[in-house]
Amino acid sequence: MFFVIKRKTLLFFFGALLAIAAAAILIRLPAAPAMSPVHRAARTVVIDAGHGGEDGGAVALSGAVESQINLAIAKKLDALLQLIGEDTQMIRTEDVSVHSANAQTLREKKVSDLKNRAAAVNAVPDAVLISVHQNSLPSVPGVHGAQVFYADTPKSSDIAVCVQQALNQTINTGHGKREKQIEPTIYLMKNVSCPAILVECGFLSNPQETERLQQASHQKKLAVSIAAGFLAADREG
Ligand SMILES: [Zn+2]
Repeated sequence: MFFVIKRKTLLFFFGALLAIAAAAILIRLPAAPAMSPVHRAARTVVIDAGHGGEDGGAVALSGAVESQINLAIAKKLDALLQLIGEDTQMIRTEDVSVHSANAQTLREKKVSDLKNRAAAVNAVPDAVLISVHQNSLPSVPGVHGAQVFYADTPKSSDIAVCVQQALNQTINTGHGKREKQIEPTIYLMKNVSCPAILVECGFLSNPQETERLQQASHQKKLAVSIAAGFLAADREG
């Protein structure tokens, strides 16, 4: 049993290393930079898998739920970033809402969940937030692809540019998207003080993309692209 788990873990890490190397070539990242160890040691990448528990987020026609896809991608991103030496922290590691115990109604739970997420991010010194979500536009089911939104905080747009570029070269081939400043109505992104991006990894209103988003291989591709773009922002910044 132990051997099986260990072997699977090793295979994942080996696969992840290969994937990063492949992504670095594919995304044409510049040569490895002389990165300041102080900078690398100081920051913590906070990974937020959007929604969770009773708040499933967007739901596809097939019944696929956003919160679970978010978590699967967030976990892969977390494993990858740790593998390359980043300090990380996940807001949730299970399919749960992070509301406080005194929240009763669905509305209260949602408000409490978002407040707790923002407080958790703001409590981390030198945090960088990557929030993982799925999009949905049922009125135009053909729309697909990954898009990065950024907060109105320092360095957020620089990170968004690099992550969007990486996603355009791996996920959005032939139909690149542009990073965008996020609407001020998105509570978490408005209430964090650190650099922050929100990645809408794909559209659950598109049946083909929904199928892909549920596949581990596609989730890995998304995680690798986000990680590669995030690291590329270090070189630019
Ligand atoms: Zn969402």
